[in-house]
Amino acid sequence: MPELPEVETIKNDLKKVILDKKIIGVKVGKKKIIKSDYGDFLRILKGGVFQDISRVGKLIILRLKGGNYLLIHLKMTGQLVYSSKRGCVKGGHEVRGMSDELPNKYSHVIFKFIDSSALYFNDMRQFGYLKIVGEDELKTIKSKFGIEPLSGNFKFEDFRNIFKNRSAAVKSVLMNQRLIAGIGNIYADEILFKAGIKPDRAAGSLEEHELKKIFKAAESVLKQAIKYRGTTFANYVDSRGKKGNFTKFLKVYGREGKKCFKCGGIIEKIKISGRGTRYCSRCQK
Ligand SMILES: [Zn+2]
Repeated sequence: MPELPEVETIKNDLKKVILDKKIIGVKVGKKKIIKSDYGDFLRILKGGVFQDISRVGKLIILRLKGGNYLLIHLKMTGQLVYSSKRGCVKGGHEVRGMSDELPNKYSHVIFKFIDSSALYFNDMRQFGYLKIVGEDELKTIKSKFGIEPLSGNFKFEDFRNIFKNRSAAVKSVLMNQRLIAGIGNIYADEILFKAGIKPDRAAGSLEEHELKKIFKAAESVLKQAIKYRGTTFANYVDSRGKKGNFTKFLKVYGREGKKCFKCGGIIEKIKISGRGTRYCSRCQK
């Protein structure tokens, strides 16, 4: 699933290409992807214009002229692909076997712009969604997200309070979107490796200096991931298909059974809240 760095990258890429262009057509192949009134969805978007794009956690927010917002969540396998005569901007989950042809059988929603460019929402497993909301509903939705790493409200004091008296595993707390927004399975594992903390430690058992390490690791891992345009991410600026990704920097995620870069021990895999979790038992305590 795309996490904060991937969604941030998609947001930044789309910002350069889709704003202030009239939407002249909206095609929906699978109605169940649309989580608001279907008639309203078409009526509001046809002839509409995206004026801004932002993000909260893993949720993409497109502001429409007239005061409504289009929300897009990519969930497990969603992709957003923008295509114009000049090339293609692609972001989201990379899916093996999905053709580069556009539209393809997974293109469930297509926006056509006045300059004959188009934005495709592709989703193999169809857990992703699109939804139109007004100002008030957006506020309510935003209020359900926890503190946002890399933003002004990401303060150590708030971060520390989140972990206090919690018996849940530290990894589960890091991934709880209502507490901290944007971190998923990949970055939770990477952050805890960098901090030297075992992922199944009870959150409430962490000492101040350990929480500080996690806080700092969260900031640096996410920043570096954004710099390298994320992990589950492919971006094609042109037909050469140049890829940017963070995969080569992963220390534990996807490395179970392999040697730890730090100590030479073997990376282990356990399950925490049903999610595969990789860690080094020598480096993480
Ligand atoms: Zn190690």
